[in-house]
Amino acid sequence: MSNSNPSVNTLPQTPARSALASYADLFERLIDPVFLLDSESGRIMDANATAERVFDFDKSHPDEHPDLYKGMRDDEKGRFEQALRIARRRYYPRQIRIWMTAGSGARIYYEASVCALDLTDKTTVIQVILRDKTREYEAEQSARRYLEEVQTMNRKLEELSITDEMTKVANFRRFKQLLALEHERAERLGGQYAVIFCDIDHFKAYNDRNGHPSGDDLLRVFSATLRESCRMVDVVARYGGEEFVVLCPETDEKGATGLAERLRVTIEAVRFSDVEHQPLGFLSMSVGVASFPENARTQDEVLKKADLGVYRSKATGRNRVTNYSTLAQDPAALAEALKKAG
Ligand code: GH3
Ligand code: MG
Ligand code: MG
Repeated sequence: MSNSNPSVNTLPQTPARSALASYADLFERLIDPVFLLDSESGRIMDANATAERVFDFDKSHPDEHPDLYKGMRDDEKGRFEQALRIARRRYYPRQIRIWMTAGSGARIYYEASVCALDLTDKTTVIQVILRDKTREYEAEQSARRYLEEVQTMNRKLEELSITDEMTKVANFRRFKQLLALEHERAERLGGQYAVIFCDIDHFKAYNDRNGHPSGDDLLRVFSATLRESCRMVDVVARYGGEEFVVLCPETDEKGATGLAERLRVTIEAVRFSDVEHQPLGFLSMSVGVASFPENARTQDEVLKKADLGVYRSKATGRNRVTNYSTLAQDPAALAEALKKAG
């Protein structure tokens, strides 16, 4: 009873159209260079017209056949040989991308499709079809270069947006971001941090005597000195004008007061140019210190209380450090500092 439907058996078997096509015809007319290589030695057995034109040889003269490996780096040679080896064993084509050297000497980036072909004389050859991908490669490269340029520019912009142009330390905008992060961390984990507020003494006098450009130079040396004298984790930033702030993570008021005192002594010892006419005979700064959670509950309050210390240091003769706890012990002094700070 099998195949009871007569129409199944009687239908003529039509071969696929492609099975009727001539490989030789296709081979000659492909616009890509095609090589047939000996499956063992890799020697060129045949090449189509495009291959002869691109690699500038006459296939009827085997001694003039081109060296397909010409100009290839060792790793490319290795990949090409590996593709040939695999093609011998597997039915499906291998594709690799590889630079080759044309007869003119031009370098062409090819996508090589490599596969074994069983011929009717029972031998096997390796067919290599080369598709020119040079333009695509160049377009990819220029897109990548463009992207890298954009990324570099973005990094520079980002850097500019957080750096004080003149002194190259962080600007106050950046300081506020880092202060907020530090505050959040300390609050969440029960940690602590401190802020040191520094104001150069009698800087107007320095500018008046030496000129604004010399004042700028001094600010650059001053900020670099602060930077070098702090720990790596401390953030030195320009608050504005001749005022600088330092964020000291995981530091209590006592520790920060010690660091502030060290900074004050360091600045006093620096031989800045033309500071001998300053009222104190050298360059100095007045400093205030406050910390979280000892002195304040918010980051703005920490900053404000460190600033109050600066007012007190100014009022008591300059070139000194006042922390908030000390200031708070003297209600009249605190009231005066608060009044000056507005
Ligand atoms: P005090 O001891 O009370 O702090 O006195 P001071 O002169 O340092 O303070 P004041 O606030 O009277 O003056 C600050 C001076 O800092 C005035 C201003 O010209 C100068 N200054 C601010 N920013 C810059 C700057 O970028 N470059 C220069 N060269 N000077 C600046
Ligand atoms: Mg000032
Ligand atoms: Mg000042």
